[in-house]
Amino acid sequence: MAGQNGSIVQHSLDALLEDESFLPDLREQDRKLAFTSLTAILSTPNHIHKSFLRIALENGKVIRIPAFRVQHNNTLGPYKGGIRFHESVNEDEVTNLASLMTLKNALHEVPFGGGKGGVIIDPRDFTVKELHQICKKYVHYFSDILGPDKDIPAPDMGTGDKEMDWMMAEYKSIRPGTPYRGSFTGKSIINGGSLGRKEATGKGVYFTYRYMMSDFLEDHKEWLGAQENPFAQTALDHSNRPLKMAVQGFGNVGSIAALEAFQCAHLKNRVVAVSDRNVTLYNEDGLNIPALVDYTANNNGELPMTEEELDGLEIKAELLDREKVLYLDVDVLVLAALEDQVHKDNMTQIKAKIIVEGANAPVTTEADDYLADKGVIIIPDILANAGGVIVSYFEWVQGRETQFYREEQVFKLLFDKMQNTMDTILPQFFGDPFPLRQNCYIHAVMKLSTVLFRQGKLY
Ligand code: NAD
Repeated sequence: MAGQNGSIVQHSLDALLEDESFLPDLREQDRKLAFTSLTAILSTPNHIHKSFLRIALENGKVIRIPAFRVQHNNTLGPYKGGIRFHESVNEDEVTNLASLMTLKNALHEVPFGGGKGGVIIDPRDFTVKELHQICKKYVHYFSDILGPDKDIPAPDMGTGDKEMDWMMAEYKSIRPGTPYRGSFTGKSIINGGSLGRKEATGKGVYFTYRYMMSDFLEDHKEWLGAQENPFAQTALDHSNRPLKMAVQGFGNVGSIAALEAFQCAHLKNRVVAVSDRNVTLYNEDGLNIPALVDYTANNNGELPMTEEELDGLEIKAELLDREKVLYLDVDVLVLAALEDQVHKDNMTQIKAKIIVEGANAPVTTEADDYLADKGVIIIPDILANAGGVIVSYFEWVQGRETQFYREEQVFKLLFDKMQNTMDTILPQFFGDPFPLRQNCYIHAVMKLSTVLFRQGKLY
């Protein structure tokens, strides 16, 4: 398995091999062999399906577009993961993201495996009619391997509810009579999508930070004080005082996380900076987040970029370069834009002591190690941004039952599920010296290993 996931999974397996209280029935040579099997199973995807989608463009030209679906692991349930439409998407990236899905679902007790898909296009280069054709062809070419009990795609970069509606409709035509609503998630509400799906990731991202810094901290203050653990000290140093927050990325995930922080009754946050692909907006006294959310909703998702626009909105903010958001003197940094944003060349400039990963893999391995040594708490992607897949699971259940939940029911179920995970992971994290990411991976790998062992698959 390439990338960060692979090395953390291997560290987790090495630690578990040494810990003889884990799977104690496995001893000596059998134990070594079983762990060799685990490395092989978790480090490689079950299947990589590839195809070239033959598309007739509106100008009469016919092209063939590379497309793939990686099915990493289905030990815990059908493969599950988004389909990315992006000009630079590639097999390694999709395989790495598919393995992250396997681990994310294991961590949060979501009964799905891990998968991911990609189509190598810049969707902005195609007309609506052509995109419709691409979506239909994707389902057509991969129809044998997709389905509500086999592999359930969802939106990812470059795709959204429109594409999922088209894909579900194509699946329904190809497989008439099957329970088609569970074949894709992230659909529009009218087509069987779940209320709350759109906000789920951002709300979940904020919830992980809020739960750690309010509920958990309040309940464990004395115990945390007794731990000789730099992360426990960081959490305590940031308790019971207003916290300054910066948010990189003001799209679906970042804007909802910023709004949750702004409206939070549990913590006294001050969101002093937000950014997007163009600009960072900064105000030491705090930004008017609801006004910025309204503005972006009506301006192609982009933040105001000029003094005039800010004046027109009566928003007080300095306009800074887009990278500046990373280096501000804040307590909390939410990374909700892209991967690889904090890396070896800029990690020493990060001042925040708490980082929340809304995006997948926004902190590289070197930066992760460096920041952990400084006692910075990183709430990792696998823990923080699982709200989307959790509510996708609720959408799948609702589609099968053809009974739909109210929005507040969805959020309650979401927070309950994330709280269960946090209650399992946080005591381990603050009780030992491993960073939070490593703790999450160990837990996910333990779950997968135990299920595989009990199913007799480790030989
Ligand atoms: P989005 O497209 O709605 O928003 C992305 C934001 O990042 C935009 O504000 C954009 O302007 C900004 N951005 C782009 N390039 C930037 C740059 N170089 N510097 C600063 N900002 C930049 O996407 P989203 O749905 O909010 O997803 C954000 C991240 O979270 C992605 O990495 C995505 O893979 C990940 N994620 C999303 C979900 C989900 O449910 N939406 C779930 C899990 C993970």
